[in-house]
Amino acid sequence: MELEDWLSRAVHAVRDWQRTYGDFEMHESLRVSDDAFGAALDELTARLTDNYPFFHPVYAGQMLKPPHPAAVVGYLATMLINPNNHALDGGPATAAMEKDVVGQLAGMFGLSQHLGHLTTSGTIANLEALYVARELHPGKGVAYSADAHYTHGRMCGVLGMPGTAVGTDARGRIDLAELDAVLAGGEIGTVVATAGTTGLGAIDPVHEVLAVARRHGARVHVDAAYGGFFTLLAGQDDAAGLDPAPWRAIAECDSVVVDPHKHGLQPYGCGAVLFSDPDVGRFYVHDSPYTYFTSGDLHLGEISLECSRAGAAAAALWLTFRLLPPTRAGLGAVLAAGRRAAVDWAGVLAASASLRLYQRPELDIVCYFPVTAGRSLSAIDRASARMLANGMAAENPVFLSTLRVGADEFRRRDHRVDADASGARILRSVLMKPESERYVGELHARLEQLARAEPG
Ligand SMILES: *Cc1c(COP(=O)(O)O)cnc(C)c1O
Repeated sequence: MELEDWLSRAVHAVRDWQRTYGDFEMHESLRVSDDAFGAALDELTARLTDNYPFFHPVYAGQMLKPPHPAAVVGYLATMLINPNNHALDGGPATAAMEKDVVGQLAGMFGLSQHLGHLTTSGTIANLEALYVARELHPGKGVAYSADAHYTHGRMCGVLGMPGTAVGTDARGRIDLAELDAVLAGGEIGTVVATAGTTGLGAIDPVHEVLAVARRHGARVHVDAAYGGFFTLLAGQDDAAGLDPAPWRAIAECDSVVVDPHKHGLQPYGCGAVLFSDPDVGRFYVHDSPYTYFTSGDLHLGEISLECSRAGAAAAALWLTFRLLPPTRAGLGAVLAAGRRAAVDWAGVLAASASLRLYQRPELDIVCYFPVTAGRSLSAIDRASARMLANGMAAENPVFLSTLRVGADEFRRRDHRVDADASGARILRSVLMKPESERYVGELHARLEQLARAEPG
């Protein structure tokens, strides 16, 4: 069946339930004419064509793709009712679904017990983890790698805690010796390890970060907003497989964040935070004169900083997991295809005369730059920016993104460059659609063409 058939089935099912309460008329103030609705909708769909083709494998730019049809149908069916997962009074069915999917996420990371909930985004999920970190280590700061998401530095500011950026190694991972030295100062209460950096997809060695942090009595929070679902490939015995050590260590850490709206096939509005010690719920204690009246059971609003949250987001994830569970054979197969695409493409790039691989991809993000005659950073920067623009303007367009990297970072990766500038933009492709696997050849051919058209 097609998406439109599933949508129609969902609308009918919700209508059938609504009718059990008896018919009533929609108020005239809400009524609009079909002509007006049609005209406005046509205007909307026309305006929506001003988008990049996130759905198509020619789009190999940022972390963007449409949700799975199951997520769309689950979301829209639930949105007709519009439950609010803040409290059981607002959404009993979807609150139960949220607890169910959060339990599945905890199981995926191997947590033996947990307290957690969905959030509107990875940003809010990380904010909650840092908030709890502050409550447990008042007066102390947070350390994260220089390649960690900018949200950590920013949220440290919001929470009034000092944030310290630690350098990275030749693979974009947090430098353990430097981390050890920073922690020895005694001012850090929590270390953020990133499992899949946003720029390069690098995986901090969570197991080693954990050992260093514990030696200094610090907590460890894992930001797996992008990479979290890749834990499904940990130890897999093939080209897509990942070193299991960092992923297995997440179970021993204090908190972890994962974004189902990135690699969990969901529409935006779905992050998640999990704590390994359910007792941290005490930091959320508050009274609400408005809510929490239908039951003494846990209301999700009692353990989250956000109030209103879409029950539809929980329902969409629940329906998706019913069909593509967070297992190696389920969602794992989706991620494995993108991972294989990245590994294959890295091999092709390594043999290219016009494009250079920046570093070996650790997940499904591939970074590369055009080979220029003078090897100067300013030439690499200009050529990357031109390829990005020319790629989108071409008759056979291709959509990329850029990443700014510093001169030292080129050197650390043994790229011979003339550092006539502090850094340069390079090209970056996130291969998060499994369809990319069969498209890498075509993609590479188009990029070779663009690179060869460069003045050099
Ligand atoms: C995307 C991302 C975030 C921010 O999450 P949003 O859902 O965009 O708010 C935080 N950390 C990492 C590593 C990310 O990739």
